[in-house]
Amino acid sequence: MNVRCFTLGAFQVNAYLLEDPVTGQCAVVDTGDGPQLANTLMQLDPRPDLRAILLTHAHFDHAGGLADLQQAFPDAVTWLPELERPLFDTLPRQGSLLFGMPEFDRPCGRIDHELRDGDAIDVGQMRFHFLSTPGHTPGQGCYYDDTYVFVGDTLFAGSIGRTDFPLSDPDLMHASLRRLLALPGLLQVCSGHGPTTTLEQELQRNPFLDFLRRERGMDEPSGWSLPLGRWN
Ligand SMILES: [Zn+2]
Repeated sequence: MNVRCFTLGAFQVNAYLLEDPVTGQCAVVDTGDGPQLANTLMQLDPRPDLRAILLTHAHFDHAGGLADLQQAFPDAVTWLPELERPLFDTLPRQGSLLFGMPEFDRPCGRIDHELRDGDAIDVGQMRFHFLSTPGHTPGQGCYYDDTYVFVGDTLFAGSIGRTDFPLSDPDLMHASLRRLLALPGLLQVCSGHGPTTTLEQELQRNPFLDFLRRERGMDEPSGWSLPLGRWN
C-alpha cells in the first residue's frame, strides 16, 4: 500500500491517501475541514481513483471537507463509525455550538455505510479492519491493516487525544487505548495530527500510557520517573 499524508488547514489535520499498487484504487482517511483536500487530489496527475472515504471521527477538522470531496469524487463511498453519527449530524452547527467558531460550520455530506467494531472494508486488494475507540468523541475509530493503523485523534506521538470536549469520555478513552495498544507493536501509527510513530514506541515512551505500563508490569520509561530514591 502506498501512503501519502496531506497536512491541511488551520488545525493542521493529517489526511491520508492510500493507494493499492495492484489496482490503483484509492481510499482517503479523513478530509480536513474544507475544500483543500479535494482541490489537491484533483490536481494530482494521474488523478487518484478514489473509491472510499474513511472517517475516523466527525470533528469538523477531520470531516468538514466531506461535502467538497464528494462533489469532486462522486463515486467514492463514505464510511463513518456508527456511534459517531450524532456528532456527524452536528457539522452544520458544530463550529458554533461546540467550539464557538461559526466560521467552521460545515455541510454534512453523505454517509453511505456505518461501521461497527470488527467490521472490514475492502478497497482494491487493500483490506482495512475497523476498531472502535471511543473517548475523544463518542464513536471515534481506527482503521488498520498489517502495516499501518490510522488512529485519528485517539493517539499521537507522545500524547493522546483531548477528552475535555463536549461528548468526550476519559474513561472510554482509557479502555480504547488499552484495546488499541493490544494490536501488534510494529504497526505504523498515522495520527490525525503530528508525526508518525509506532505502537511499540508509544507503549514504551508515551507519558499518557503510564496506566498501561503499570498494568503490564513494565518499567517506567527512562527520563520520565522522578529519581525519588536519590533523595531519600
Ligand atoms: Zn477530534
